[in-house]
Amino acid sequence: MKAIVIDTAGGRPELRELGDDELMPGDVTIRVSHSTLNYKDGMALVSGAPVIRRYPMIPGIDLAGVVENSADARFAPGDRVLLDGWGIGEAHFGGYAERARVSGDWLVPLPASLTPERAMAIGTAGYTAMLALIALERYGLAPRDGAVLVTGAAGGLGSIAITLLAAGGWQVVASTGRLSESAYLRDLGATTVIARDELSRASAPVVSARWIAGIDSVGSTTLASALAATAYGGAIAACGVAGGIDLPGTVIPFVLRGVALLGIDSVRAPSERRVEAWERLSRELDVAKLDAMSRTVGLADVIALAPEILAGRIRGRIVVAM
Ligand code: NDP
Repeated sequence: MKAIVIDTAGGRPELRELGDDELMPGDVTIRVSHSTLNYKDGMALVSGAPVIRRYPMIPGIDLAGVVENSADARFAPGDRVLLDGWGIGEAHFGGYAERARVSGDWLVPLPASLTPERAMAIGTAGYTAMLALIALERYGLAPRDGAVLVTGAAGGLGSIAITLLAAGGWQVVASTGRLSESAYLRDLGATTVIARDELSRASAPVVSARWIAGIDSVGSTTLASALAATAYGGAIAACGVAGGIDLPGTVIPFVLRGVALLGIDSVRAPSERRVEAWERLSRELDVAKLDAMSRTVGLADVIALAPEILAGRIRGRIVVAM
């Protein structure tokens, strides 16, 4: 089988042949048809750090394919499955390979209405956008309460978040460093597009309220500014680190406006939450918009695209076809 392998910390990723017997232990073997490129995969491919935790490693935090062999009674040969996170591409061989051997506990049945290609167009980025939407809803927020902010809007998580929120009736404020992508963001459903630097500059502890909710891919000053402009009783779902891992703000939005910060983790999210997220994605995500924001590349191409996603130059989603 073909696989992308990184042999050592700081080593370069190489596409090469590997024997099936070199796969790591697991009770289900999958013929992988598709994977994807997320920001985290970009970090793994470019430097390994801080994503890869053992070497050698096959990167790729998502995969979709068909079960070939299974010692897990829940899965049989021929079943269509997908897998996001649970440490694949980090501590267990991941999706950039024609075969994967994994724990059945990590698998989600591919929803009937999704092709594996579309599932990987969604990938961890889109599934995390849905986890964030579910978190905001569970917190009690709804479109009638006000607008929702999406940062890193033209990226993968941002593009899918906008599409889902707009379909759910939300007024979406999209923050982007690429105002040239305003038409794209409006086509996905954004009502207002604002420049990234409105939020990436330091803000007063609280400013006039602009939204009741938010889905943030960026972190750092952007997240602090987003909190400062959140209306009374609102919440921001913190998903990402594209702008930095720090949070240089104050507690004033929490203590004066009762604003909440909701942490979103896709990697170790429990199975029931994943199945719920994927079922909702298969029902609620407009596949025409998903197709329009995605393009498909081959396994060999993903290495060259990794620095591009870290530089914020990829629009929407990249699917990797084996
Ligand atoms: P993308 O690169 O596709 O999207 C990130 C977007 O952030 C870019 O397209 C860009 O959007 C914006 N951006 C990039 N660099 C900067 C910067 N320096 N300052 C401000 N904005 C910037 O990545 P993904 O959608 O795959 O992931 C987004 C983030 O979410 C990543 O940090 C990723 O690690 C995280 N993530 C977390 C998960 C979790 O479990 N919590 C799961 C999945 C992703 P624009 O040009 O529109 O401004």
